[in-house]
Amino acid sequence: MKYFYTLVLLLTTHLFANSAEDEIIETGQFLNKSGLCPATSGNISVRTSTDEVAITASGKHKGELTSDDILIVDLNGKPIGGSKKPSAETLLHTVLYANNENIGAVIHTNSLNGTVLTRFFAYQNAFITEGYEIHKAFPGITTHQSEVVIPIFENSQDMVALSKEVTLYLQAHPDTFGFLIRGHGLYTWGRTMREAKIRVEAFEYLFECELKLRTLRQ
Ligand SMILES: [Zn+2]
Repeated sequence: MKYFYTLVLLLTTHLFANSAEDEIIETGQFLNKSGLCPATSGNISVRTSTDEVAITASGKHKGELTSDDILIVDLNGKPIGGSKKPSAETLLHTVLYANNENIGAVIHTNSLNGTVLTRFFAYQNAFITEGYEIHKAFPGITTHQSEVVIPIFENSQDMVALSKEVTLYLQAHPDTFGFLIRGHGLYTWGRTMREAKIRVEAFEYLFECELKLRTLRQ
């Protein structure tokens, strides 16, 4: 009987790991087709247990991901087994999971529109959209008569410092749906990968509207 339970556990773990890999690979193709992760930029992760996350390895093209390009890390961003190298930005993913147990997936894109806006608003630490129907894609918003605040953090190669800054902000503003890093891109998340992808699309739409508006007004 003991062996039966071990076998069930192994099979469940295997299936769960496979579905996490499949979700990441499929999301990579979605981001690649949308042009949101040029070159080898961006990364994708999904929670596989209370304190473990499957995430894309460093320097992989998101349209060509295979299961070899995905590794398991703990919530401190440290790899669990294997020799694959995690992305430098793994910590920015894992602090999100560590701070919010409801987060099941995180997507980071190098959104062209979002990146341009962070350069346009060079001295602002947040970008606010208001009056858009698509705000209703975000949880808790039921009307276009609303504001969405998207914080902008300065880019840094010091991921420990940046992840601490992000953590402090999100603890003070738990109703945040995503954030931008200046000259770099977007981070957003959801309870599931599907939710995270919907938020990527909603943010992208908002960024494009705001960029087009500014172009027309000039
Ligand atoms: Zn990045």
